[in-house]
Amino acid sequence: MNKKVKTNCYFCEKNKIPSYKEVDEIAKFVSERARIVGRYKTGVCAKHQRKLTIAVKRTRHLGLLPFSVKI
Ligand SMILES: [Zn+2]
Repeated sequence: MNKKVKTNCYFCEKNKIPSYKEVDEIAKFVSERARIVGRYKTGVCAKHQRKLTIAVKRTRHLGLLPFSVKI
């Protein structure tokens, strides 16, 4: 990938891979109702969005993030 191209992707910029261990970071990409926010809003690239989804599901399974929030 060309590094000179600017991306809006949070994980590309930080040169990180979404991990279930970093709950604070992942929580930024989850909405008020505990839903995963779409790529068109957060600017995360396809590759990282896929990993993010898996990470969020893992954190939910561990009980670190809720599955749903009723408002
Ligand atoms: Zn990315």
